[in-house]
Amino acid sequence: MLKSQRPAFGAEVAWARWQLRQATWLLDSGPDCDVVVIAIGTTPNPLVPRTTTGLETTRHGTVVVKDEATGRTTKDRVWAGGDVVTGAATVISAMGAGKRAAADMDAFLRGA
Ligand SMILES: Cc1cc2nc3c(=O)[nH]c(=O)nc-3n(C[C@H](O)[C@H](O)[C@H](O)COP(=O)(O)OP(=O)(O)OC[C@H]3O[C@@H](n4cnc5c(N)ncnc54)[C@H](O)[C@@H]3O)c2cc1C
Repeated sequence: MLKSQRPAFGAEVAWARWQLRQATWLLDSGPDCDVVVIAIGTTPNPLVPRTTTGLETTRHGTVVVKDEATGRTTKDRVWAGGDVVTGAATVISAMGAGKRAAADMDAFLRGA
């Protein structure tokens, strides 16, 4: 996804609120149950950049990749892709990044 196509932060918040309204509707009208755990994440886990020296991140907490074709980060032998790089996006784009990173890891391990 091009940076210019990414929704503004306000739009992401509105989208998350819409998702929570859907979850609330599910609680009110869904199956009878004792507990519903809502586990929706829309921001990167800050733990990884905080505990990994040499891994460059943006001010939004996303991981910087030096090369989108491979997913290589600023830390040697660390690859990244998906939402932690682009911010909230789609399954398709995350899968594509994972596939490209896996191919590059394979080439790296084979010494190519
Ligand atoms: C409510 C909601 C609805 C969505 N609907 C759609 C949709 O309809 N279609 C669509 O294309 N996309 C949708 N998306 C976006 C889509 O889910 C994401 O773009 C996609 O899942 C990103 O995949 P990922 O592998 O990059 O990250 P994730 O799927 O978030 O996977 C990251 C994983 O890393 C784990 N993790 C985090 N920190 C650590 C750590 N320190 N150690 C170990 N593991 C860790 C997390 O638990 C998680 O399992 C939706 C997102 C949300 C939140």
